[in-house]
Amino acid sequence: MRPRIGILGAGQLALMLAQAGKALDVEVICAGQPGDCAEQVAEVIPVDLDDAAAVAAFAAAVDVVTIESENIHADVLQGLNLYPNARAVGIAQDRLLEKQFFHACGIGTAPFAPVDSLEDLKHALEVTGLPAILKTRRMGYDGKGQARLRSSDDVADAWAEVGRVPCILEGMVNFEEEVSLIAVRSRSGQVVFYPLIENHHREGILRTSIAPFVNEKLQHQAERYLDVLFEKLEYVGVLAVEFFVVDGALLANEMAPRVHNSGHWTIEGSGTSQFENHLRAIVGGKLGNTESRPTVMLNCIGSMPSESETSKFPELFRHDYGKEARPGRKVGHLTFPASAHAAIAEWQRRLAGLIPR
Ligand code: AMP
Repeated sequence: MRPRIGILGAGQLALMLAQAGKALDVEVICAGQPGDCAEQVAEVIPVDLDDAAAVAAFAAAVDVVTIESENIHADVLQGLNLYPNARAVGIAQDRLLEKQFFHACGIGTAPFAPVDSLEDLKHALEVTGLPAILKTRRMGYDGKGQARLRSSDDVADAWAEVGRVPCILEGMVNFEEEVSLIAVRSRSGQVVFYPLIENHHREGILRTSIAPFVNEKLQHQAERYLDVLFEKLEYVGVLAVEFFVVDGALLANEMAPRVHNSGHWTIEGSGTSQFENHLRAIVGGKLGNTESRPTVMLNCIGSMPSESETSKFPELFRHDYGKEARPGRKVGHLTFPASAHAAIAEWQRRLAGLIPR
């Protein structure tokens, strides 16, 4: 019997997981809403992901469950045959628990303090110094739920901007680079790593990922960190950790208990993509090799370039998620071999032009 994998969510990450599932002997079914983009390649069953009974009924009809977003209420995940497990997801979905957990694992972060009130925010500034960044503990993504503070006069505005909900305040670090490490752990404990990836964000949204980021010392350090996280979380599946490189060392920013945007290049650039390896991991299979070629991924934010434009560049792989164009929305990505310098530079310019200001 082919294993039936249920994904909670049916967006672009579920779409690419389902595409990877075609090459494996597995069946992928998504819990989502009519019109979600994974419908193009997989069955999407309408499920309200806030409804624990509906999610449990979906889970009962599949062999294993996984997620495409950590922003699912932890209560809904209890008792499911879920990989990664509910505890790992619960930690990753709360920026305060996540930072505290990094520290418990011996992994450094930017200075931070919890904030539950305007008074807390004033005190938290003494811990973090200025400039600082206030982030909602939960439901933040792509720079949403964040406010920057340049002076202590900004406290009231920042607190109002994030909606006066539980937050953490972080000191702004002056990073040399932003990098991520994607790793996979199987049910039998096999672990594979991809090379470190260099990431460039604008307005809080990932724009460009370049692999590999070559630094033997940091690669080693990041791998040891992920090993510790895997062990302490009894983790199964893909885990992505975003780091700041500060003074030549790594500070963890956040972790994603799922396939990650900075790993989309692995579809063309690696022996086995992050999507295929995640599916292999959660069904109890053997992980595939992660030998990688230098590759660049550019995100298409807001709208896709036309097919007639992209078809002029034979070195480019085009991924259109089939989503409606909308400002700030991730609607697709382009992947290039890193040797295609001229085409990458041209597309960086063109895609920057598509970003509504
Ligand atoms: P996040 O949602 O935490 O990934 O933040 C989005 C982006 O904001 C990051 O990729 C960084 O470019 C920037 N950022 C977030 N936190 C910090 C920080 N503590 N110091 C400097 N830059 C930050």
